Amino acid sequence: MILEKYRLDGKVALITGGSRGIGRAIALGFAEVGADVVVVSRNISDLEKVAAEVSALGRRSLAVAADLSRIEEINNLVANVKDKFSKIDILVNNAGTTQSLSTIFDADEALWDEIMNLNLKGQFFLSQSVAKVMKEHGGGTIINISSMVASKPEANLGIYSMSKSALSTATTVMAIEWGPYNIRVNAIAPGNIHTRLNDFLMQSSPTLEEKMIKRTPLRRFGEPDEITCAAIYLASEASSFITAATILADGGFTRT
Ligand code: NDP
Repeated sequence: MILEKYRLDGKVALITGGSRGIGRAIALGFAEVGADVVVVSRNISDLEKVAAEVSALGRRSLAVAADLSRIEEINNLVANVKDKFSKIDILVNNAGTTQSLSTIFDADEALWDEIMNLNLKGQFFLSQSVAKVMKEHGGGTIINISSMVASKPEANLGIYSMSKSALSTATTVMAIEWGPYNIRVNAIAPGNIHTRLNDFLMQSSPTLEEKMIKRTPLRRFGEPDEITCAAIYLASEASSFITAATILADGGFTRT
């Protein structure tokens, strides 16, 4: 009985950055527990592979290419999903980037715009647009994929850390404003998870991964599926009285 609260049957989930890494794992996990899934990123052929995997699990799927740092593409995306599924029950704001390491002295406007326009502006306006659809349908849940650097900023990841810490504030404010509409807003703050983004960061120094593992109480990096389980919890009735919360999934890193 209690396990049924973790199911997502009949729900429509929109997962950004669903083509690989953490987003793909969440898309497949949600489909496994019953949700229809829309995946979004910029590369349609990567997305179509994930959508086919969702369909193979017996769920409805949709792949939509959009650059989520651009507001007009966000608005088109939401209209498109509404058209096909008529509602959105779950939004996972997962697409995020930091394509280069930089000290604050070296950071330029292009780097600022690249990170802030996706990690913060895009997530903000997509949440706003989707929450309006959720409000019309009696509620929903939004999950923001933050980072351990929101509460423990790292050198050379200054703008990325700032974007994630602002996302924590956005999570709280949205939860406060939208709670009365039965829209719950929570965050997951992953630590080091094996994905393309993390591999890129680790390649910046030959000893970085080893150093990071030593600083992690569980003495390893996480896998994308370990974030999926937290996302299923926050998306489902299992967490029905939880809003404005952040689940740290970092192997204990931020507590050291
Ligand atoms: P990946 O780089 O593996 O995946 C990123 C996803 O976002 C891809 O689907 C990518 O597809 C999509 N994406 C990137 N830019 C855009 C854009 N402008 N518009 C639409 N989609 C875009 O990253 P992870 O899976 O590692 O990261 C997922 C989230 O988890 C991010 O928010 C990240 O900050 C966070 N995180 C990750 C950690 C880790 O260790 N891996 C640690 C802490 C947080 P495409 O490029 O084709 O558009």
